[in-house]
Amino acid sequence: MALIGRGGQGVVRKVRYVPTQQFMALKTVPIADSVADGVKSEILMELTALYNCASPHIVKFYGASHLRGRIQLAMEYMNAGSLAEILSTVGRIPEDVLSAITLRVLKAFHYLHVDRRIIHRDIKPSNILVNTAGEVKICDFGVSGQLANTLAMAQTRVGTVTYMSPERIRSQPHSASADIWSLGITLIELATGRFPYPPDVTNSPLQFWSLLRLVVNTDSPTLPEHFGFSPEFHSFVALCLDKDMEARPSVTELLWHPFICLDANVSVDQEALL
Ligand code: ATP
Ligand code: MG
Repeated sequence: MALIGRGGQGVVRKVRYVPTQQFMALKTVPIADSVADGVKSEILMELTALYNCASPHIVKFYGASHLRGRIQLAMEYMNAGSLAEILSTVGRIPEDVLSAITLRVLKAFHYLHVDRRIIHRDIKPSNILVNTAGEVKICDFGVSGQLANTLAMAQTRVGTVTYMSPERIRSQPHSASADIWSLGITLIELATGRFPYPPDVTNSPLQFWSLLRLVVNTDSPTLPEHFGFSPEFHSFVALCLDKDMEARPSVTELLWHPFICLDANVSVDQEALL
């Protein structure tokens, strides 16, 4: 079992499912013994319901189990890894590639937000996966209620950055538009190679708190001018990062933005693509 990656919640390994000889990614998340069995079962039920999704832009979920103090999630293995890994190798991702990736992420959002009424809540480069067939899929979404609470207790904060929108940080009621904010932050990071706020490298809850305060109290980040990005890209990111969640466009509106179909000569039937 090869280790693929390690996150704040647990580890991900590449495994082969013997009956079908198929590769899978197995995520193991430790769950404290103190968590009641009822809560563990509830977490599994939540996961199964949430991951029971049929979209070509969402990583397939094969099942979950809990065993000896840990929860295991089996999902589709994406052999080119996450955009976080790709970014650490290539430094920056070109605008035209980002436009193509964004279209796929928006299609995943359309499925979640419009068809299923689910908010992803954790969009960031490490949760956007790629394979060598050229597919782009999002993972790790909608970890709602119980699992989020249980995991929050175990979360380590070293090097923590946040893709959370101002209204979520303020614990105000939030909606699917929180995902649009996270997409905007993610795009700036992928395009420039830098997370747009200073990351917390101190393992101090106080430092992390000051990052959250920064998101709430300062103007939204923008794409820097000196990279020469198109006006369409600047405009797309600025719309995603409107601090007023009511003013942020929905996924359906963003699908029509010129950043998504830059080449006016290519006619795309966006509805047919969904
Ligand atoms: P955090 O725990 O803060 O959410 P994370 O997303 O990096 O961060 P994990 O979800 O545990 O943490 O994933 C760890 C790494 O494993 C990811 O960065 C990604 O590179 C890799 N990974 C996760 N799922 C898959 C998968 N289905 N296929 C291939 N690689 C994966
Ligand atoms: Mg992840």
